[in-house]
Amino acid sequence: MGNSSSAPPKHSCEVVIVGGGYGGIQVAMQLDSYCKVTLIDPKDAFHHNMAGLRSVVEPSFAKKTLIPYEGILKHGTFVQDRVVSCNISRRTVTLSSGNEISYDYLVFACGSSVPFPGKLPLGTSMEDALKLYKECTDQVIKSDRIVVIGGGAVGLELAGELANDYPKKKITLVHNREEILDDRMAPKFIKKARDGLKGLKVETILGERVNMDDLNFDSDKPWISGPLTLTTDKGTSIETDLVFRCTGLKVNSIAYQSKLSDKMEKNGSLKVDQFLRVEEIENLFAIGDCNNTPELKLAYLARLQADVAVENIKRLNENKRLKEYKPSNPVMVLPLGRSGGVSQLPNGMVVGGFVTKSIKGKDVMTADTWKAMKKKMPSD
Ligand SMILES: Cc1cc2nc3c(=O)[nH]c(=O)nc-3n(C[C@H](O)[C@H](O)[C@H](O)COP(=O)(O)OP(=O)(O)OC[C@H]3O[C@@H](n4cnc5c(N)ncnc54)[C@H](O)[C@@H]3O)c2cc1C
Repeated sequence: MGNSSSAPPKHSCEVVIVGGGYGGIQVAMQLDSYCKVTLIDPKDAFHHNMAGLRSVVEPSFAKKTLIPYEGILKHGTFVQDRVVSCNISRRTVTLSSGNEISYDYLVFACGSSVPFPGKLPLGTSMEDALKLYKECTDQVIKSDRIVVIGGGAVGLELAGELANDYPKKKITLVHNREEILDDRMAPKFIKKARDGLKGLKVETILGERVNMDDLNFDSDKPWISGPLTLTTDKGTSIETDLVFRCTGLKVNSIAYQSKLSDKMEKNGSLKVDQFLRVEEIENLFAIGDCNNTPELKLAYLARLQADVAVENIKRLNENKRLKEYKPSNPVMVLPLGRSGGVSQLPNGMVVGGFVTKSIKGKDVMTADTWKAMKKKMPSD
């Protein structure tokens, strides 16, 4: 893919970007007019996963969350494939097709996976994604009692979407810890989120664990339909027609795990220095969910990291001093339904539904995302 409608890139260096998520797309688009860029992703479209949960209750929304990669780069190349290995001394990556691509600078932006509907299974095409959301909504429509397992941001947001659009259904959130959300968030943020769930009549069961082994979730079976009875480790029984799992984030490390195991944290993320380079490797960067910066993992931060990686690739190429990345304070925008929710801003301020709706709740940032990718969003 590529056309030469604008001036060709100024520099001859070659940058390979593994992963076309929030961080990878931004690096590719920013470097497209600077040097030769190759973006690799197994999907045919960028998935705006932040908005994926809205598609569960409104399937026509799903098409607004999938932005084809075609035409995104004016000069560079998009390769639809999966990177399965890398060779740091030879400066190449190997694709699942067996092809090799060489680079001067390599950026790992392979992100993380969470069970559907949090994100799509790796490599899902646009066509299959639309089918999956439709199937999921059909299950929601015919289920009167729905259980969401996992009281992190994804679980809360899903419970909020379901309770908001289906106020007559019984929505239950089960979380194994005594408190919802990440304990790095301000107590006021957590309290407002709990109040928001209460306001939407979501029943919350805390400090109890559902035995996942009994449920047989896998990527082909992202939800479990009933009717069935779940039992927690404390003996609570929950009658349900549908179960979603919002737990178990995994870093997508397949592209580098065989060659860079000594540079990986236990969770599979790459250890980076203050310039976002993988430790002790001058021409290798890792950004977003697949690196170990000490902060919450967010698309917003993957994009900020993309800006720093782009700047540092240019500076390395031009023998200039590198720019440091400063990890962020905890930030979160958590809609609970279309008009409720709570946000913690970068300055630590906690605000409620009105601001949360205007930042994310209303259209889940779809219009801005299409605009950033210089494409026209499909209408309803
Ligand atoms: C439901 C939900 C709501 C969220 N809401 C927000 C929010 O409101 N605000 C916010 O800031 N963050 C939010 N997040 C977090 C945010 O989505 C992640 O932090 C973000 O996706 C990270 O971006 P990334 O570019 O690092 O990776 P990803 O977006 O995960 O993208 C990684 C890409 O790499 C590709 N890939 C993986 N392995 C390979 C390989 N071997 N070869 C080639 N390509 C590969 C994948 O196909 C994917 O396209 C939310 C997350 C979820 C699940």
